[in-house]
Amino acid sequence: MQTHPTAATPIPLRLLHRPVVAGLAVPWITARTPNGPYRFGAVDTGRAAAALERRWCQICGQPLDARFVFAMRDRDVDRSIAAEAAMHPECFRYSTQACPMLAGSMSHYRSTARGGDLAGISAILGDPHGVRAGKRAERWHAVWARDYIVFDDPLTGLAAALLRPHHIVRVRPLATWAQGSGAGRLL
Ligand SMILES: [Zn+2]
Repeated sequence: MQTHPTAATPIPLRLLHRPVVAGLAVPWITARTPNGPYRFGAVDTGRAAAALERRWCQICGQPLDARFVFAMRDRDVDRSIAAEAAMHPECFRYSTQACPMLAGSMSHYRSTARGGDLAGISAILGDPHGVRAGKRAERWHAVWARDYIVFDDPLTGLAAALLRPHHIVRVRPLATWAQGSGAGRLL
């Protein structure tokens, strides 16, 4: 079982401007400690909100194109609400390749909780799932969209993306995303 992102994943062109730590491109919304080092698995909440509001990709920090992708769990899809900003398709693909949770190679969250304030793809490459440590991993979906509405999610009190039916282009499960030859076909 892969328990750590692989540095062998090629960094896409869109992410070449990002800092690289241990062979991995650092997402735009990744938090830094006051003295400089990035904290993989921790989100800069100001940047996360800014990406959502400005319609920027949370991974590269650049404006989204006409079609973009949200990573959403089952319950997010049921509510048509994405808790985190969207991504360019290639940035999303890189995230799925670098994040073992999204790649479907882990059946459970890590049992060691750390942080506890984060969940989701925005914390890729780190330990984003401490809040649900030890519980069964939820299924993720790639939700392709053309638009969204920024609103305050009443469940969390945080800004989120509300997807109307006409905003959604397609929904694909990620469970088998990286298992074998099908990885490239879904994007
Ligand atoms: Zn991007």
